Amino acid sequence: MGVSKGVFYTLTPKEVLCRGVKYSSLVDLKKHKVYHLNETASEILNLLERGRGIGEVAREMKRDLEEEEIQEFLEELVNRRLLKTSTRPIRKRSHRPRPPKLDFIWCEVTARCNLKCVHCYAKTHNSEIKQEDPSTQFLKRVMEEAAQEGCRRIQLTGGEAFLRKDIMELVDYAKECKFDEIEIFTNGTLLREPMVRFLSERSVSVAVSLYSYLEGTHDSITGVPGSHSKTLKGLKMLLDYGIKTRCSLIAMRQNEEEIERTSDILSAIGLNARTPDPVRPVGGGKEGGYWPKKYSRRVLIEEPPCEFDEEMYRTNKAWNDCWFGKAAVTSSGDVIPCVFAREQVAGNLLKEPLKDIIHGRMLEYWGLNADKIEVCQGCEFRYICHDCRPWSYGLTGNLLAKNPKCTYIPETGKWGGDCKLLQYVC
Ligand code: SF4
Ligand code: SF4
Repeated sequence: MGVSKGVFYTLTPKEVLCRGVKYSSLVDLKKHKVYHLNETASEILNLLERGRGIGEVAREMKRDLEEEEIQEFLEELVNRRLLKTSTRPIRKRSHRPRPPKLDFIWCEVTARCNLKCVHCYAKTHNSEIKQEDPSTQFLKRVMEEAAQEGCRRIQLTGGEAFLRKDIMELVDYAKECKFDEIEIFTNGTLLREPMVRFLSERSVSVAVSLYSYLEGTHDSITGVPGSHSKTLKGLKMLLDYGIKTRCSLIAMRQNEEEIERTSDILSAIGLNARTPDPVRPVGGGKEGGYWPKKYSRRVLIEEPPCEFDEEMYRTNKAWNDCWFGKAAVTSSGDVIPCVFAREQVAGNLLKEPLKDIIHGRMLEYWGLNADKIEVCQGCEFRYICHDCRPWSYGLTGNLLAKNPKCTYIPETGKWGGDCKLLQYVC
């Protein structure tokens, strides 16, 4: 990095410097820590990283700083084990970006649903949508082609997947394709014991949508009286058979007062109910004013990201944080980067093979890394930050807009700024 009197200063191999428009961050990929550097520190380290010696740094810096002061600063970093010294220049290893590979696929086996959830992204209960189910043969082809691409995880989803009479045949075919993880996403209302036994024998996991521990709230969201008790019965059977089950909890205006209690109750009975997500601004979720007001404040990004690891950092340098490696096949054969990205169609399987789509237009979506996202491209946290394009697109209509939950302004280095999510909700 930099040299002074025969001593070379360099970052350790597990540290990376990320430059923003004003500040930089020093990311420790081993200890999962991020240090925010002020402008002077950013300038020194950035110049050193460009191969300048300490004397050159002192001359090139915008502010007056003596060589001794720079040396003192560097020694301080060495003492804190953020820099190391050596008597020879250390060549930094360059990391090749991960090659594109399909890792996870959602397969929408039907657009039909027996519930009428107000916020549904696919609007399956809309009477104008009279789409026929994809054929068994077609769905087998999807699974086969995904497996050939090296994909090891699949979710069968809908609509309501258990409305299909051939769902067992499809599960068995997924097994034949040797997916390591097979999950079915369901509202749980149609589960009966023979089906649950079948799923348990094949180690299939299940994800169930639940909106509240209170029947009235849940049924008002699903639009079908009695659906709450059927879903609970389904959940009980899944637990009795020891099936790996998680609950998908969506926070909405109707249930935001109860969502935490619901999550606690589910966790207490052994169900994995992750932190509830607010309803996505997609499909019905965009149109009905279903946004949780109080809960939205809890999902704001108000401090530097802290959940990251080396793999995430290296992947995010080249690819989109969430979309990379994922694809969803809708019931009409469209291939999109995630189930919420209904308008980002990379191709259609009725017209071309999955391989061509994945290695063709899908790369444009997978390749939307933070360097291409407005505002984020100048942020020093951009490769350790979690992204969700459907949030941005749903709220602004701009696929490249900054995450609307974020309050950081890279130009000033201040948190608490312009936040599209609050503007939308309030
Ligand atoms: S969303 Fe963008 S601006 Fe906000 S912290 Fe993440 S990378 Fe930075
Ligand atoms: S992009 Fe957003 S909606 Fe899509 S899978 Fe990722 S987190 Fe979920």
